[in-house]
Amino acid sequence: MRRRIAAGNWKMNMGLEASAELARKVKDFTGSNARSVDIVVCPTFLSLADVAEELEGSGIAVGAQDCYHGSQGAFTGEVNPELIKDAGGAYCIVGHSERRTLMQEADKEVNLKAKALIGAGIVPIICVGETLAERQALDTMNVVRGQVMRAYAGIAPEDAAGTVIAYEPVWAIGTGLNATADDAEAVCKAIRDVIRYIYDGPTADSVRILYGGSVKADNISGLMSEKDIDGALVGGASLKAAEFGKIVQAIAGKCSDEA
Ligand code: PEP
Repeated sequence: MRRRIAAGNWKMNMGLEASAELARKVKDFTGSNARSVDIVVCPTFLSLADVAEELEGSGIAVGAQDCYHGSQGAFTGEVNPELIKDAGGAYCIVGHSERRTLMQEADKEVNLKAKALIGAGIVPIICVGETLAERQALDTMNVVRGQVMRAYAGIAPEDAAGTVIAYEPVWAIGTGLNATADDAEAVCKAIRDVIRYIYDGPTADSVRILYGGSVKADNISGLMSEKDIDGALVGGASLKAAEFGKIVQAIAGKCSDEA
């Protein structure tokens, strides 16, 4: 039985005070679910340490949105996994489609970042997903399988088992469009099959696969009824603590309107 994850990607939003305030609210709205589901929030690098301090003892983890794979040294402007860990980060998103498209991040870098994170004891959340043009060309499975194969190149099975993959169709991110539960499940199952092909059954059964792309309180339940979807990576809706609270509750499997 895989433990589910609810992860919030706060993207490039909020300064120090607003981030700490949102962290306090997330604690209020989701704290009671922290025993049954892994809850992660990913603020900007600048706010990471403050948010980690705010959430200490709550069971809610903090993650970064990116990293650089190099060890400490002459890499102006970059932040490596050791620094993220030192600031209180336990997870790190890599290969988000915004970075792939806006910063030309390639699969090779995603792979280097994932390896560096694993080396530092941080859980990578490896994002994969097809563009609208690729979906329309019926190329979704090829694209996603290729991204997964390249992301895991040279990663040992015992390390792969603890990683997280987020299937985020690019056309669904921040657009209000989202994949149907059936479509999302088909891709998440294909991702698990790739992990089984690269490694073995136990590794495939351990890796947690999230769906991301316009997840909201009113569409999460259908997604969570699917066998290969172990949670969600949430962008816009994670900036509203009450909404995120409802999403967390649905992921934890307790449906209630109280949050
Ligand atoms: C994301 O940025 O990872 C994301 C899924 O965004 P949104 O939920 O806003 O589509």
